[in-house]
Amino acid sequence: MNSTKTIGIIGGGQLGQMMAIAAIYRGHKVITLDPAANCPAARVSEVIVAPYDDVAALRQLAERCDVLTYEFENVDADSLDAVADLADLPQGTRLLRISQNRVHEKEFLSSTGVDLAPYRVIRSSSDLGNYDFSVKRVLKTATGGYDGHGQVVIRDEESLATARDLADKTLCVLEDFVPFTMEISVIVSGNGTDLTLFPVQENIHRNNILSKTIVPARISQDLADKALQMARKIATEVQLSGTLCIEMFVAGSQILVNEIAPRPHNSGHYSIEACDFSQFDTHILGILGQPLPDIKLHAPAVMLNVLGQHMEAAQAFIQAKPSAHLHLYGKEEAKHNRKMGHVTLFSEEPDQVEEF
Ligand code: AMP
Repeated sequence: MNSTKTIGIIGGGQLGQMMAIAAIYRGHKVITLDPAANCPAARVSEVIVAPYDDVAALRQLAERCDVLTYEFENVDADSLDAVADLADLPQGTRLLRISQNRVHEKEFLSSTGVDLAPYRVIRSSSDLGNYDFSVKRVLKTATGGYDGHGQVVIRDEESLATARDLADKTLCVLEDFVPFTMEISVIVSGNGTDLTLFPVQENIHRNNILSKTIVPARISQDLADKALQMARKIATEVQLSGTLCIEMFVAGSQILVNEIAPRPHNSGHYSIEACDFSQFDTHILGILGQPLPDIKLHAPAVMLNVLGQHMEAAQAFIQAKPSAHLHLYGKEEAKHNRKMGHVTLFSEEPDQVEEF
């Protein structure tokens, strides 16, 4: 039996690159689809250069691959369904469709019984009429938002006017602003039958972009168990294949689910060195329907993101601390706020590890 496969990855950014590396050392072949010939995955795989929604290119990818996966959730689900007769699509498109639209996402999450911040769907600015400022809320576009884009925190008349404009342009959800004490995430991988979970991760954002992840999260065992239980519930409900990240808020004794990403996630990068299997390893094992290992964290770890403006600081950091693992994704232009790489180190004192 030939157990090595050709895996097609839609999207050749850093997530596609790290997925490809996890696949390649298991003997698989990888082809990625990306609009940029010099994308990060080009370092480790053949690239079909085409827009993500180019059905002819997707078809070509599917014809040449045994299994298809994706590195990001804004892949056109209809186009994927259209090529599903040519290659296996173990993740299906249900979870993709759910995570592409905050209205679907919230309806789905509510149906699983996990807790979320109170919300309502906003179809136009008239749904914001007679606005009550007594509760702080945030308006989010249903589609297309990431890293805080497409969001307005409504604090006063001025931000309400901005929110009204947004609500007249596109479908939105209005949710209560959560006075969280911590943001956390849980990575879970599935093979269609069984699940494996990573330890709860504590996430610190700066300007809405992940800056630092601390593992394990500094929360009580009870809260950690609650978060893991919620992740398990969500993953079970979708008969998860591959890796899924669930982002949550800790507010007092409550855990509220914020959003889900049906793919490996920036907050799980520490797992490459700090766990015996990475979120990319379990993604590849999962989509191939292989047995999944229990995950062990070797020691408490910290991950720092390296953005375009941090390139020199990151180099200086590893000169001073050679036991830290620097990853650079091979992006040619170090633009401001562009994710260029990350650093993972073991540390029992995460507060002592300063962000770049
Ligand atoms: P999101 O795009 O939903 O992940 O939001 C980006 C960031 O905005 C989150 O990581 C939080 O820091 C913040 N945020 C989003 N929704 C809320 C909320 N309901 N309450 C408080 N902060 C929020």
